[in-house]
Amino acid sequence: SVVVRFAPSPTGYLHIGGARTALFNWLFARHHGGRYLLRIEDTDRLRSTKEAIDAIFDGLSWLGLTPDEPPVFQFERAPRHAEVARRLLEEGKAYYCYATPEELEAMRAEQRAKGLPMRYDGRWRDRDPREAPPGIPPVIRLKAPQAGETELEDLVQGEIKVANEQLDDMVLLRADGTPTYMLSVVVDDIDMGITHVIRGHDHLTNTFRQIQLYNAIGAPLPRFAHIPLIHGADGAKLSKRHGALSVTEYREMGFLPEAMRNYLLRLGWGHGDAEIISTEQAIEWFDLDGVGRSPARFDMAKLLSLNAHYLREAEDERLVLLIRPRLEAMGFALDETALRRLERGMNGLKQRARTLVELAESAAFYVRPRPLPVDEKARKVLDEAARRTLAALMQPLAAVPDWQETTLENVTRAQADLMGIGFGKLAQPLRAALTGSTVSPGLFEVMAVLGRAEVLARIEDAAT
Ligand code: GLU
Repeated sequence: SVVVRFAPSPTGYLHIGGARTALFNWLFARHHGGRYLLRIEDTDRLRSTKEAIDAIFDGLSWLGLTPDEPPVFQFERAPRHAEVARRLLEEGKAYYCYATPEELEAMRAEQRAKGLPMRYDGRWRDRDPREAPPGIPPVIRLKAPQAGETELEDLVQGEIKVANEQLDDMVLLRADGTPTYMLSVVVDDIDMGITHVIRGHDHLTNTFRQIQLYNAIGAPLPRFAHIPLIHGADGAKLSKRHGALSVTEYREMGFLPEAMRNYLLRLGWGHGDAEIISTEQAIEWFDLDGVGRSPARFDMAKLLSLNAHYLREAEDERLVLLIRPRLEAMGFALDETALRRLERGMNGLKQRARTLVELAESAAFYVRPRPLPVDEKARKVLDEAARRTLAALMQPLAAVPDWQETTLENVTRAQADLMGIGFGKLAQPLRAALTGSTVSPGLFEVMAVLGRAEVLARIEDAAT
């Protein structure tokens, strides 16, 4: 049965490209009833940090992509990797290489002069280690095939072949006894029983050497799927100048995890013209034949519109909990009354927001202490005449028998008629007085949520 893994290197934050790789692996496992594992590739001791590992766990758990088993830490497995290298050595599938740094530098210079990338010339491949110069700690290199081709049947990229003469004998174990990245990845994937390696296209060139290593070890090959990278709107590889790259930044910008997941899914995978895809639906539909071959373009407008959709779908109570810390950070103390208003007003508020940041900002008027700050446009609405009109509305509102939306609307309309003015002439200043702004949820909804005492007090603040 299917076993997949997400294998990030913890050297910074959880990149949105990495999150997408995790998502594709997770969906593939769920679709096939398999297991989804996490391997922290922390072998680069200088660049791997505890903070970066925590950021990966945090980002994955926010997105609902936690692994099915405790994570594997690659560095801890270094002795096992070294053991495999030594076994290959014993079996004659690998050899000690005593080339000095100077020799390797000369080799590099020679290739460079011919315009070629560095390729080790195999000078110790068939040499007797007894000829080794003293004092040189050797590396262990793979005795890779020199003729023929290495073939990859990639589930996304199709069939690709590389001539073996293009691939030199790679180092498996360094002179200090530490395993190379290539060795660690292959041994871990074998030991973890990985059946499908789904990862970014940037790893495609590594795959041919890894296949050679599987063959030397005598392990069956997993299937490989290399997914196209993510590009910015301008078509260049996604980078810092295109905007936020870390998953956590998107959380801070006020995106919901389900919106992010839906968006990442559509970055490189499609099912007909479906755009809004629930997780259940994605599990049912997901497979690698839906992954395109060309790079996906990151489109902020699309992400925002998906987020707006998921905000409208979200439970009101959950949204209150999500904007609560944001409102508190804006300096509002949220008492029982404030929380009740937010909950009752949420349905109207969430129809207009694209992010939790916008939602919190648009909700602020419900919880602000009086007197409300009034924005530029609203101040223009509240001119002399408008303030008199408002003052005249206080008496009828004070007398409203039941504080319900329809009653409030009837009373307000009747008052406009009585004063011989259009409804807008009354509604606009009323909105400005109650919200400090010219845009808000429905006026009568706002009145119902605020309650009689607060409405009258806010009108009085504005009218006098
Ligand atoms: N650690 C590699 C990375 O973060 C992934 C290796 C792999 O998936 O094979 O890019």
